Amino acid sequence: MSVNLSSHTTFKVGGPASEFFIATDENEAIRLVSEADQKSIPVLILGGGSNILVADSGFSGRVIKMAMTGDSRSVDSCSGAMITIGAGRDWDEFVKECVDKGFVGLESLSGIPGTIGAAPIQNIGAYGHDLSEVVARVRTFDRIAKEVVTFTQSECGFTYRSSRFKENPDRYLILDVTFQMKEGEFSLPILYPELAEALDLQEEESATLNKVREAVIAIRAKKGMVLDSNDPDTNSAGSFFTNPVVDPKKVPDGATSWPSDNGRVKISAAWLMENAGISKGMKLAGASISSKHVLALTNPGNASASEIKALADYCQIKVRERFGIELEREVRLFGFAQ
Ligand code: FAD
Ligand code: NAP
Repeated sequence: MSVNLSSHTTFKVGGPASEFFIATDENEAIRLVSEADQKSIPVLILGGGSNILVADSGFSGRVIKMAMTGDSRSVDSCSGAMITIGAGRDWDEFVKECVDKGFVGLESLSGIPGTIGAAPIQNIGAYGHDLSEVVARVRTFDRIAKEVVTFTQSECGFTYRSSRFKENPDRYLILDVTFQMKEGEFSLPILYPELAEALDLQEEESATLNKVREAVIAIRAKKGMVLDSNDPDTNSAGSFFTNPVVDPKKVPDGATSWPSDNGRVKISAAWLMENAGISKGMKLAGASISSKHVLALTNPGNASASEIKALADYCQIKVRERFGIELEREVRLFGFAQ
């Protein structure tokens, strides 16, 4: 039976997969990926489909939906909690569990869609914190070496919205992730001004884990950044582009920007788009910029994948023409010519 990928992506677009498998245990996932590699069948490893855009013609190859949700954990009062979770488990369910049980570190990453296994790929982050702060190790199947390889935190190559897994696309099948978190009632320091204001705190102060989770979800919902079947602005992949990190000489006058690593500067992609003439709610054929957030490209109902891709291309062209800066896609494309 052919499976349409539109029902497996948050854009709700994407045509059929030639082959579609659900891997509920890691041996099965490794067998499926190894067999496809041996036969040179293209592979799409699928989590929650919240950071991909699949073409209307679908994916000519094997889709492997990661559904391993097993876990193991040990908690002691000195080193805190070491929790290993299977790649297919829902990310936000796990965050909620940590908040409820008093494990500190993931509260600012509440409300992000997707799976545990995809989280290390772009070192998911939000509201001043990212995954790298709580990861102890990532266990993978290396499709080139054809063996299971575990990377410690420092070997994962985590940087701003990237990692060795993103740098080497299609090499690593992530099997599970181990988190190390301390136990406590209070959050990591609040580093994001908007969140501090919502919690009525100064930056660097902390609040209870639950309060932080609630505040983050409330802010995100106002921006259309929590999946909601009643809100078409959430038929998206979140931010379509990352914030460009550039040489300070390249920063346009007046641009919203922040210091980044190695003397470089991170420019707000949203500022670049808005100042290149792209605005919230703008439509191009069936696709639309979210009415709540300029960085979210959306499917308001009947958009095709090619229309969403055309809108993304349009945004890149406008920013390139106006500022000579290349917007990089955060979202990965499958089934398109380029
Ligand atoms: P998918 O979209 O299924 O896959 C993404 C990529 O990872 C693909 O290349 C896929 O092949 C690969 N992949 C998936 N699982 C595995 C695995 N086990 N092994 C190897 N490769 C794998 N991101 C943030 O960083 N911060 C945010 O605040 C944020 N907010 C968002 C809000 C909304 C409304 C949406 C729709 C998206 C948001 N995102 C955010 C982006 C997205 O949720 C994350 O990137 C998430 O980690 C993707 O998970 P997924 O399981 O849906 O991955
Ligand atoms: P925003 O507050 O308008 O932030 C826009 C961008 O400005 C963010 O990308 C953020 O960078 C950057 N930023 C804001 N204040 C900053 C500061 N004090 N120092 C450094 N960078 C700062 O709101 P938003 O776009 O809704 O994002 C809120 C948070 O959620 C951000 O952390 C964002 O990354 C995350 N988010 C991500 C996605 C996604 O799909 N990737 C979707 C929704 C929200 P950072 O990205 O480095 O934080």
